[in-house]
Amino acid sequence: MLDKTKTNDAMKPYQGPISPFALQEIFIQDSFADDDERLWAPLGENRWSRPLCLNVSQGYWVHLNRFRGSGVISCHRHPAPVHGFVIQGKWRYLEHDWVAGPGSYIFEPPGDVHTLVAEDTGEDTITLFHMTGALINCDSEGNTTGYADVFTRIEAYTEHFENVGLGADYVKNFIR
Ligand code: FE
Repeated sequence: MLDKTKTNDAMKPYQGPISPFALQEIFIQDSFADDDERLWAPLGENRWSRPLCLNVSQGYWVHLNRFRGSGVISCHRHPAPVHGFVIQGKWRYLEHDWVAGPGSYIFEPPGDVHTLVAEDTGEDTITLFHMTGALINCDSEGNTTGYADVFTRIEAYTEHFENVGLGADYVKNFIR
């Protein structure tokens, strides 16, 4: 027998208290339909990044990586995990034998070292990456040459948003 009380209750929005310590959600309606080129910060040749969530208490950041034409993310090491989901385009790691395309999911375990190469397929190559900790740049022998983390990314986005007229504070929309 259908319990009407329960059915109705299931559709009732929560009306109880929310912790004052809970942070505000981030909601981006459609990062493609509402696209604004100013939201894409240049990170290198043919490469842009659009921030989605920059987490300063747990040291992770979620962003869309975009290549226009062919592109490379030079050799780097991950001390912490990365999750990737390909939205469009095609890319691979020089160190692995698979090629990622639309719908591909990638888990990069801590300790992985690789070089990302995107093909020019005639359309943008867009991947959502959830990065944790840092990306430690290295040469092919493994010698450290630089790094990126949520804080260096915040600096880069801040500078970019300032340059395109959105203001330095715009980056705060994505910081939690
Ligand atoms: Fe990586």
